[in-house]
Amino acid sequence: MGENSNEQKQYFIDTIAKFCDKCGTAYSIDDLEIIQETPISSIIHFSCKNCKASHIATFLKPMGISNRMPVNTDIGIEEIKKFLQKEKISTDEILDLYLYLKSNNQIKV
Ligand SMILES: [Zn+2]
Repeated sequence: MGENSNEQKQYFIDTIAKFCDKCGTAYSIDDLEIIQETPISSIIHFSCKNCKASHIATFLKPMGISNRMPVNTDIGIEEIKKFLQKEKISTDEILDLYLYLKSNNQIKV
């Protein structure tokens, strides 16, 4: 991750979520970890410093949309990283995910 990562994290806060879903605490760049970054998508881990609620956000750059799902706080960020590295996410899979979320009304486009 280069020197722009703080700027990037701030962008994700502005774009995806400014506040914790559970307690409303404002996120800061220290609460974010960019798990995976590809030309078309980003996967970001949000964790609230106040209530410890965690979310994984998927941001699809071509569509400018994001989806957030709560994650079990027992699952460590290293485990998530390992999983995602094992499963190299392709463009097709991102599109599948997008269509899946859309069909389930998880996102509105
Ligand atoms: Zn919280």
